[in-house]
This record gives sequence, C-alpha cells and structure tokens, in this order.
Amino acid sequence: MRTLKQKKLTIKHIILEKTGGVCSKCGKPLPLEKTTIDHLIPKYRGGTDELSNLIPMCKRCNKQKGSRIVGVEELRYLSKAAHEMLE
Ligand SMILES: [Zn+2]
Repeated sequence: MRTLKQKKLTIKHIILEKTGGVCSKCGKPLPLEKTTIDHLIPKYRGGTDELSNLIPMCKRCNKQKGSRIVGVEELRYLSKAAHEMLE
C-alpha cells in the first residue's frame, strides 16, 4: 500500500519534470526534498490542484511570489510543453 507521503513525492517528481529538475523561476537545481509546489493560477483565481496548474519552485521564489500571479514570461525554466498548456 502506498502511503500519502509516497504519493506526494510522486506528484512532486512529476511536477519537477516540467522543468527538468530546476526552479521554474530562477532555474536553481532543486532536490526533491527542497522543492515547493506552487499554483500557477492561484486557487482564489479559480486555479485547480490539477498537475497542469502546479509548478516547481524553490522556497525563495515561492516566498517572493507570495500570492500574486506569476507571469508566464517569468517562468523561463518551465518546459515548452508546459507553456503550451497555459495558452
Ligand atoms: Zn527559484
């Protein structure tokens, strides 16, 4: 049986693959345990918990971002495929 913790790690792994293992904003390499997951479109703006709305970010960028919406142009390290999903 898979634990909730394992499930979360799997999700993190999938999200981290969107950038090839770096922060989607600053490009810093992110080990799995230091990855924070952020909503591309905040929940209060109608964003969902779908994988397509989640992006990997380092703690620093996540903190800087706060609750504002990140412009797609700021997410230089997000893969092209992920960008296309946003359009
Ligand atoms: Zn960062």
